[in-house]
Amino acid sequence: MVRTILLGAALLLTTASAVSTPTPKVELWRLDCGSFGPKPLVNSCYLIRHGDRLVLWDAGFPGEWIGLPPSPERRSVVAPTSLTSELARLGIAPDRIDIVAVSHLHWDHIGQAASFPGARLLIGKEDWDAVTVPQPDPRLQPHRFSPWMEERSAVDRITGDRDVFGDGSVVIVATPGHTAGHHSLLVRLRHFGPVMLSGDLYSSAEQYRAKHVSKDNSDPVRTLESFQRFDAMAKALKATVIIQHEPGDVAKLPAFPTAAD
Ligand SMILES: [Zn+2]
Repeated sequence: MVRTILLGAALLLTTASAVSTPTPKVELWRLDCGSFGPKPLVNSCYLIRHGDRLVLWDAGFPGEWIGLPPSPERRSVVAPTSLTSELARLGIAPDRIDIVAVSHLHWDHIGQAASFPGARLLIGKEDWDAVTVPQPDPRLQPHRFSPWMEERSAVDRITGDRDVFGDGSVVIVATPGHTAGHHSLLVRLRHFGPVMLSGDLYSSAEQYRAKHVSKDNSDPVRTLESFQRFDAMAKALKATVIIQHEPGDVAKLPAFPTAAD
């Protein structure tokens, strides 16, 4: 299995470097999508600019929770600002976002997706299937995907990896296990170097070190395979690994509104 995983990573690298089209400038911002407790965890979203195309990676907490005081019913969420207001600080209106890509279907990653109803949605096929069955689990909050469920905008159901722009600079990497359709993201920046965003494959630096599979994961065996695949890719690429919920990883990227490029 390890061999297959490594070959998979090597293939991805070969494919990416063999492409002859020049990659336009790529930039990566971390957007503050709040924090939640009781164990303090941050919630991070990311904006990627590829030439004139804009991609959002993960969509934060439910928009109606923005600015509310923390309470146990809302998982002690503190979310001072919305994604749209953060983007406004960069002069970006919601309709400029071309793609909303989510690591997985959980509530803290999809909350404000519908603030970008004109964007194309990229989501793991298995996760999309889970929210679009005739009677989905209401805890999945399928209404967060209403622009796409009502077919007003396009959905790409991703199986395996997805090289978003075909030049290897922004690659959605299959890392199932936390959910069946879970993905991580590789962004290759000219000066900063490669960055790998974990999604919730790992949710803390401690878990990353211990390779501990949390008990709410849908598939422990596939999680372990995904750990191996992600770690092998990060090592081969010498990538900066960012655990999206880890407070200690926030400073690995420049502080907003500065981008890594
Ligand atoms: Zn999460």
